Amino acid sequence: MPMRPCWVEISARFLEENFRFLLTLAAPHAELLAIVKADAYGHSLGICAPAAVRAGARWLGVTCVEEGVAARAVCPEVRILVIGGAFPGQGAAVVEHGLSVVAWEPWQLDELEGAAHAAGAAAGSVPVHLEIDTGMSRQGVAPELLRSEAQEADALARILERFTPGSPLRLEGVMTHLFAADEADGAVTAMQLERLDAALGRVGEAGMLPEWLNVGNSAALLAGQAEKIAGLAARHGMKALLRPGLALYGLIPQFNPRFEPQEPPSLTAARARLQPVLSWKTRVAGVRSIPAGAVVGYNGTFVATEPMRLALVAAGYADGLDRRLGNRFSLLVRGARAPLVGRVSMDQAVVDVTGIPGVEAGDEVMILGSQRGDPQGGETITAFDLAEATGTIPWEVFTRIGARVSRVAV
Ligand SMILES: *Cc1c(COP(=O)(O)O)cnc(C)c1O
Repeated sequence: MPMRPCWVEISARFLEENFRFLLTLAAPHAELLAIVKADAYGHSLGICAPAAVRAGARWLGVTCVEEGVAARAVCPEVRILVIGGAFPGQGAAVVEHGLSVVAWEPWQLDELEGAAHAAGAAAGSVPVHLEIDTGMSRQGVAPELLRSEAQEADALARILERFTPGSPLRLEGVMTHLFAADEADGAVTAMQLERLDAALGRVGEAGMLPEWLNVGNSAALLAGQAEKIAGLAARHGMKALLRPGLALYGLIPQFNPRFEPQEPPSLTAARARLQPVLSWKTRVAGVRSIPAGAVVGYNGTFVATEPMRLALVAAGYADGLDRRLGNRFSLLVRGARAPLVGRVSMDQAVVDVTGIPGVEAGDEVMILGSQRGDPQGGETITAFDLAEATGTIPWEVFTRIGARVSRVAV
């Protein structure tokens, strides 16, 4: 059956090209893990994970075991890292599907160890990445200076002693999350890497040699931090792994403040090379003329001051078209800006096409898009535009695109 016309088009080719370009920023210092959590930032795991693998990704990053199992189904060969950790009862799926898991709490290791024993897993066969909290206070083992007195005296030592030679668990990596890599002065990142360095010293003293140092998002990679992270890894006999998400989908995080006077060459190159992977479209379901004085939508928040032509479009807030966009954002119809008038409904919205000649039912409407060669001419709407209009960030715009919006590979 033909679909309701509210869909996103995903360019697997742009995603592949983005990944290959990002690899040039990492090489020869570091490898890349392609972040495909949250259904590949709403871009479709089923389309994007295999595309990243075709482009050379040997690692995928997901949030949870459920996403890891879904990624494993489409990418049988690569390593898959569950960055949010396993929850009680999920250890068996981790073992069965050969996932690598981030862990930082003793109970998480209990869960994995129990599942490994139950499955008769061999010694060292369940890979774990130990997360160090280097200042974000979100997840990870906190080093001494970040712990309150109420916490256990040496949490890191307690965790490390679990990786005894006969254990099914293997310390495959150490990871941390840089929480301010988009701050151009890099001071917070430098502080985090210092804390990580100290923690890695402790890991070495405990006689462990994990393979991967797993640090850095899109902002870190684009700001040229790969070399520094790789240097830290090399000092501890490890290999570096960076974890870009947003850049893989063709967007560049905004650095604050802007780099002055010159931005890093990696960032300049990214502006020229990265291509947005996703376009979001709908169609005009019908056009009507209204007289001056007519009101539009719930509660009549828009009042026509002159005769107007309105187009009904098949997208609403249940599709991720944010309700706050009503009366304050324009979509593209026939290459021109068509303001959203009245409130966005759950499943529909209305745009003003008075000034756009010839609009009729079936016309394509662009909600988000900047793919080259698009019929909407030169006009584009970026995820940053949508995010700014609703006070959020592109990551949220993408991940809010509704599950019922079809993802179509183009
Ligand atoms: C989501 C996520 C990333 C990717 O972040 P981007 O800013 O999209 O590149 C990297 N690491 C962790 C731990 C994440 O949760």
